[in-house]
Amino acid sequence: MNLSNSIKNKKRPFLIAGPCSAESPEQLLDVATKLALDGKTQLLRAGIWKPRTRPNSFEGMGEIALPWLIEAGKEVGLPVTTEVANSKHTELALKAGVDIIWIGARTTVNPFAVQEIADVLRGVDIPVMIKNPVNPDLELWIGAFERMEQAGIKDLTAIHRGFSIYKHPKYRNVANWEIPIALRERMPDLPLICDPSHITGNRDLLLEVSQKAMDLNFDGLMIETHPDPVNALSDAAQQLTPDALNRLLKSLVLRSNESSSLDDNELSEFRMKIGQLDDKLFDFLTERMHLAEQVGLFKREHNITILQQEHWTKSITSRLSKFEEYNLSERFIRQFMDAIHQESIRHQTKVMNR
Ligand code: PEP
Ligand code: MN
Repeated sequence: MNLSNSIKNKKRPFLIAGPCSAESPEQLLDVATKLALDGKTQLLRAGIWKPRTRPNSFEGMGEIALPWLIEAGKEVGLPVTTEVANSKHTELALKAGVDIIWIGARTTVNPFAVQEIADVLRGVDIPVMIKNPVNPDLELWIGAFERMEQAGIKDLTAIHRGFSIYKHPKYRNVANWEIPIALRERMPDLPLICDPSHITGNRDLLLEVSQKAMDLNFDGLMIETHPDPVNALSDAAQQLTPDALNRLLKSLVLRSNESSSLDDNELSEFRMKIGQLDDKLFDFLTERMHLAEQVGLFKREHNITILQQEHWTKSITSRLSKFEEYNLSERFIRQFMDAIHQESIRHQTKVMNR
């Protein structure tokens, strides 16, 4: 099968569904049958080897589960995919006849592991999906695609599953949407799938993240689906029953990404106004940095350090406290102020050391 063509030719969202982990032949067949009946799933997923954060959790059924997955796919007429993390997994998956493989976030992060997999795949005609690395590093993600390409693997797809973060207030991982968007800029032909299951870690939040992905023009979704989610052996909090998945898909609003076909006078007017505001924003920033340089000169003359922590803390706290009034998220205010501050320090340093 040519996965990237299937994704591009299919009406969005291309759907990958199935359990986090293969647990038994019955569980797989049960979920696969329901998914196939709904007719919305194009690819059946199941983890065979599970990369778990802590030891002594369920680490997947391993090799014996490969034929369960193959059989379930055959039975319902769906291609199947599983995660491989090293050469051994890859060899076993190929031998068993898995249609498509994916590289997980904890593997993409490691160029040795990615290269090891690429070396096994050299000369094999199989589609490969690559999840983003656990850390928000676009180059590392791109590097994994390049390793596959250099091994002759042409049929590649990206999966965005969010990035590890210490104590996110809402999600298991932070989405950092700007990274998949930047990937799309760098590799425009690469199909892009969102995995809201691993971003949210919570089945109640899957819809909002799936909707966001559709609004950002992602090509598809990978959603963990289990016949009895609460009793799943891994990722129990984020899995959905096939029925619930169906409801989620029905609630998605799919908007067209073709604005040129519409009578878009109104849209171009909005865009023009936004463009003008953005121009002003940059004029303000230029002016602001000019002032920062004057401050730098003053500090040089009086021999005081660039960073005056107390002043900075005060100015950021006062903006953060007004987030409601601004109608901006606290996170955005923080990032925006930090970026301005960094740039301001750069300007001050420049004049100080002149
Ligand atoms: C998975 O899809 O079950 C998985 C382990 O994903 P990730 O690599 O995104 O953590
Ligand atoms: Mn999982």
